[in-house]
Amino acid sequence: MYFSNKSYVFLNGEFIKASDARITLFNQTLHYGNGVFEGIRAYGSPSGTTIFKAREHYKRLKESARKMHLKFDYSISELIDATYQLLKKNHLADAYIRPLLFSGVNMRLLPSEESNLFIGAWKWERYLGDKLVSVTISSYERPNPHSCIVDAKVTGHYTTSILATYEARKKGFDEALLLDMHGHVAEAPGSNFFYEKNGVLYTPPPGHILPGITRATVMEIAKELGIPVKEELFTPEQLHDADSAFFTGTAAEVAGIKSIDNRRFRKKWEDTAGYILSQKYKEYIRTGDYSHSGII
Ligand code: PMP
Repeated sequence: MYFSNKSYVFLNGEFIKASDARITLFNQTLHYGNGVFEGIRAYGSPSGTTIFKAREHYKRLKESARKMHLKFDYSISELIDATYQLLKKNHLADAYIRPLLFSGVNMRLLPSEESNLFIGAWKWERYLGDKLVSVTISSYERPNPHSCIVDAKVTGHYTTSILATYEARKKGFDEALLLDMHGHVAEAPGSNFFYEKNGVLYTPPPGHILPGITRATVMEIAKELGIPVKEELFTPEQLHDADSAFFTGTAAEVAGIKSIDNRRFRKKWEDTAGYILSQKYKEYIRTGDYSHSGII
């Protein structure tokens, strides 16, 4: 459940009951999908609750807004403070946090003069669950970067994610893996993709993906552990003799993959670099200290 009659949300500088929130039906985001958003997690730790990589997420929100010509009137620190207050008001320690910047009244095809900022928070399990996930290559492609700004987190882009997820579930799989317009592996509907081969991790470079904050964190942890990571383009066929693979994302965290189109990997998940990274990631998010450069 995302909210109850006791939940508070942040809307345009105020904390109000979720059930009292009002927005106009004539906002451009609702009709044409020009809104930008974030997905953030907070974790309880020995020193209290900490919002994981809060600065990085709100910076990305600000950048997404700039790229989509949406007005963004807040400082990063203000938003971090507001989010901590929101967690407190909702008595949340471990939480998923959803900031959304959406437009005001505007039915034209030009960016809006007015924008609104919503932040909600709720308790949310890991998005892909705790079991290894079965994956299928999607018939939907990642959006063409010449038609949109793929590295901005724009609400409208997620129609592709919804179609791809629905198709995968209809076919009996847990999750989709989308290719880019050139047939290279890109990412999942809401997470980034890595595979492992002979002790090296491979992940697609920026260009057709949303370069995730979890992806960057996992790459940093891998570096500290001496696990090489290469940002390279690759095709689905190159995954046939992979040792393992996994997804990374704020909602999913590090999620091991069982199979791709029913083809299993050469290694048992527990024997892979991905597994080690998933364990280290779990420890890291609970440390409550993400400011230092040394992760481990
Ligand atoms: N790709 C897409 C399309 C996403 O929606 C997300 C989730 N924000 C990610 C990748 C992973 O990004 P992050 O690790 O910053 O959550």
